[in-house]
Amino acid sequence: MTSNESNFRLLPALDRVLQAEALQPQIDSVGLNVVKQQARAQLQALRAAIANGEEDALDWIGSEQFLAEFCQAIANKVQASISDSLVPVINLTGTVIHTNLGRSKLPAEAVAAIELAATQATNLEFDLDSGARGDRDSHLEGLLCELTGAEAATVVNNNAAAVLLVLNTLAAVGEVLISRGELVEIGGAFRIPDVMKSAGCTLIEVGTTNRTHLADYEKQITEATALLMKVHTSNFEIRGFTKSVSEQDMASLAEARGIPFVSDLGSGTLIDLKPLGLPYEPTVRQVLEAGADLVTFSGDKLLGGPQAGLIVGSRDFIQRVKSNPLKRALRVDKITLAGLVEVLKLYLDPDRLLQRLPLLRDLTRDVAEIEGLANALLPQFEERLAGRAEVEVRACKSQIGSGALPLELLDSFALVLTPIAAKGETDASLLRLAAAFRQLPKPVIGRIHDGSLYFDLRCLGDSEELLGQLASLEV
Ligand SMILES: *Cc1c(COP(=O)(O)O)cnc(C)c1O
Repeated sequence: MTSNESNFRLLPALDRVLQAEALQPQIDSVGLNVVKQQARAQLQALRAAIANGEEDALDWIGSEQFLAEFCQAIANKVQASISDSLVPVINLTGTVIHTNLGRSKLPAEAVAAIELAATQATNLEFDLDSGARGDRDSHLEGLLCELTGAEAATVVNNNAAAVLLVLNTLAAVGEVLISRGELVEIGGAFRIPDVMKSAGCTLIEVGTTNRTHLADYEKQITEATALLMKVHTSNFEIRGFTKSVSEQDMASLAEARGIPFVSDLGSGTLIDLKPLGLPYEPTVRQVLEAGADLVTFSGDKLLGGPQAGLIVGSRDFIQRVKSNPLKRALRVDKITLAGLVEVLKLYLDPDRLLQRLPLLRDLTRDVAEIEGLANALLPQFEERLAGRAEVEVRACKSQIGSGALPLELLDSFALVLTPIAAKGETDASLLRLAAAFRQLPKPVIGRIHDGSLYFDLRCLGDSEELLGQLASLEV
């Protein structure tokens, strides 16, 4: 017998490992298979270490104490392998509708409806009066029409899908006229020219980047023109010597030439934001009244609902959109639908909307309240970070985000953390500080600006939860 073979005999048997006390809770929670797999992998690693002569304390391997520690290591591996990947975080970036952090938080009403739809059979596509097959859009079409003045409405997975579907339906083999100033990239690979190509349309650029006139559209209209389109420039703004054509003028031209006119609003809002102290955005109703045949907008930007793409407008065009086979591929599921309906219902009662819709609550949060919150949190941050970082309360600006009203900033307050570090070390210590907050049980995400870590408190819900975590901060 070689010495390796005799050494392998010291390895605990798989069965013995699986009977160890330390692993029983794991087996109960995730099942024998997962634990067995992990135990096998650990035994194999140990065997390889022995074979390579890397394991010198061989006597130790045979001991009870070793077995206990070995099993604990397996338990830790199992825990790590099943720990959640998608977790809640605390968004202190100052960007309210943050695409990378999941955009809108849903109101309680929507969450309750989602739970019902998720756990029970529903009349999703079933007409309770006739007992015949129904239409899933029927659950929100009436609401959307009431809130926007549209004749008809439908909904798909997100606004990118809505734009794709509308283009493919109305202009699959035709030309789409769009202003050069509106050929935007929204982020996350959504570029208007690429979407046009995917939809099968030919893009015809009209005017120049900074100025486009009605006559520019007129000049380009030919037999092949299938659609006039206007796209909200969302995440950028051209300033200075600019000119764009109003929805009204585009709609009149389109109507005179018998061509449909579509406006992609991107964010899209159902209510006038001005009285809430927010910047002006045309509402979906206004754009329809200006004469757009179809309007597309997102469910999870300014609307404050679940991810969805809403299409509203004339009955005829909506019918064509709904008959496109792509609609079936892009349709929303029952869970989104249930949440969206509840969010739309909140809009029927504008007086209470601000209290009930988390997005609007965050966007309209009183700046004095945010300042008070920052001052209340300051002492505990100072204490926890003493010697590591200076902490102060500073006025800052929040962004609405997600391409909604990009240049408009909201007054807010932040806790500003500036690392105390040796010269040449400041960047590294700033990154380490930001990383330490991201490693907390509920990760805290701030924004690095001007050599400091900013925690804009506009979107902070539960301050006790934030403070409670400071003890586990590793700085
Ligand atoms: C955000 C945006 C989109 C894409 O909407 P999603 O809901 O993110 O798919 C399309 N067009 C405009 C103008 C946008 O701002």
